[in-house]
Amino acid sequence: MLLRILQETLLKKTRKPNKKQERPAQAGRSFPIMPLIIDSHQDLAWNMLTYGRDYTRSVIETRRLEANTNVPDRNGDSIVGWPEYQRGQVAAVFSTLFALPAKSRETLDQIWYTDYETAHRLYRDQIIIYRRLVDSHPDKFRLVATTKELDSVIDEWSKPARDGQGHPVGLIYLMEGADGIRSPHELSEWYDMGLRLIGLAWAGTRYCGGTGDPGPLTPEGRELIAAMADYNFVLDLSHMDEAAALESLDHYDGPVMATHSNCAALMKGADTNRHLPDRVIEGLIERDAVIGIIPLNSFLKPGWIRKNGSKREEVPLDVVIAHIDHICQMAGDSLHAGIGSDFDGGFGLQSIPPELDSIADLQKIATGLVERGYTESDAENVLGGNWLRFLRRNLPG
Ligand SMILES: [Zn+2]
Repeated sequence: MLLRILQETLLKKTRKPNKKQERPAQAGRSFPIMPLIIDSHQDLAWNMLTYGRDYTRSVIETRRLEANTNVPDRNGDSIVGWPEYQRGQVAAVFSTLFALPAKSRETLDQIWYTDYETAHRLYRDQIIIYRRLVDSHPDKFRLVATTKELDSVIDEWSKPARDGQGHPVGLIYLMEGADGIRSPHELSEWYDMGLRLIGLAWAGTRYCGGTGDPGPLTPEGRELIAAMADYNFVLDLSHMDEAAALESLDHYDGPVMATHSNCAALMKGADTNRHLPDRVIEGLIERDAVIGIIPLNSFLKPGWIRKNGSKREEVPLDVVIAHIDHICQMAGDSLHAGIGSDFDGGFGLQSIPPELDSIADLQKIATGLVERGYTESDAENVLGGNWLRFLRRNLPG
């Protein structure tokens, strides 16, 4: 009975996106626009600290330097670099603060936490490493914590690059897994450091159920989100278990989003709570949120596992478009889907669709959307426009 009611609700809401300028797919047609990309999830600091990656370098350079190390085996070949940001018009990135809980540690991992003091220190270390990056390369990277700072970065991208050097990439801190916040009283300190976006979960944390650790918000989680609302922190539901996500949708008074999650409805048979059930997607759309889709093969095809020999070719880019389309069909418009690549976040070149060689190729998603009948403005929304409007609405001035 419950299922029937749910299906009827979905059917009522399912309208085709705006296809006024619908055109049939044309082989070899070149896409006339290069939308700005805002990518809602990249684990830059984690890679800088764990593997010594330097994101001012090109992916080719990073791959060459790591060719005779164990990094490609552990983390995949890098798919992120500043020259590729330029080529792909990646104007801003949600750059994560992330620390590994001891329970998820693998043999080769060297940095992890067993207690909240250590977690706190590890998260703060990542703020320091981002500041260092920005201070030493102000022409390449800028921290963004206000709409003014965001608009100043976007404004640069509307002009020709200075001295042919390229445009600055905006970095917006995103805390992934909130164990580094020792108490709600500490939120003011994090806010002062420029943090605006917080996800409570990765695996389960003291605050809520997460990936592989089902459960609702804990009493501490409820206390934390009540305090987060006072600062209008954006709450990231990615990695939250469904119970915690639904509770957050009902009770969190501030803005919500999902920075890097795919659709559970298209991952039938996957034995995980990592993907977004339609009920959560519906709640996010109702709250005017944006959902960043991840082009990671194991999140696109159930059973795809790199270490078991799965091939990139098994998961064409079209499957990424299908996840974006699922969100758009549920919303009835193109205003709630985005891209949260999660690139270099524990995987690399070996684990993404074969059409992609680096972050620059995310532009191919725009082409794919147009070929599926979406308008160019729909494609602009998905690649960056939706996140841009979301951030303008929710960051302080
Ligand atoms: Zn994640």
